[in-house]
Amino acid sequence: MNLKDYIANVPDFPIKGIQFKDITPLIGDGEAFRYATKQFVDFTKQINADIIVGPDARGFIFGCPVATQLGLGFIPVRKPGKLPREVIEHSYDLEYGSNTLCLHKGDVKPGQRVLIIDDLLATGGTIDAAIHLVEESGGEVVGLAFLIELVELQGRQKLEGYNVLSLMKF
Ligand code: AMP
Repeated sequence: MNLKDYIANVPDFPIKGIQFKDITPLIGDGEAFRYATKQFVDFTKQINADIIVGPDARGFIFGCPVATQLGLGFIPVRKPGKLPREVIEHSYDLEYGSNTLCLHKGDVKPGQRVLIIDDLLATGGTIDAAIHLVEESGGEVVGLAFLIELVELQGRQKLEGYNVLSLMKF
């Protein structure tokens, strides 16, 4: 299956100059969604992760089915004001704008083998923030998995030393 057939390119969204990769055709197709999820499940087994972390909001879409298929827990990384208990925070720059991400204090346990799953790697700011939050909690980041990698934006440079899987490169 060619997953790229299920990604819509939307020029100038949400602002001029951004080529937005729309994943909704992929998750709207049962076979394509299952195929992509299976690649993540296989990677999770291969690296022997024992918990899945996913950034708000599209990291949830892929992280949750992987977690349930393997009987693992899922931990959300969220935007400020969404998590009800005490959080730790990390701020970063986006391809467009800036953002802060939060993780419930104590959700990731020291020594846990964490796989972080997100839809897309662009500049790497989001994943870098998620890595900071997991490591500050004492977790070991054993893998990073993305549906899409935008190669030109060189997000991988921020991820040296980590085990990175991307299912599609543009
Ligand atoms: P970054 O922090 O620059 O790696 O951006 C990654 C996050 O921003 C991902 O979680 C995406 O959901 C979103 N994002 C950034 N650039 C794009 C793009 N061109 N198309 C779709 N989503 C994007």
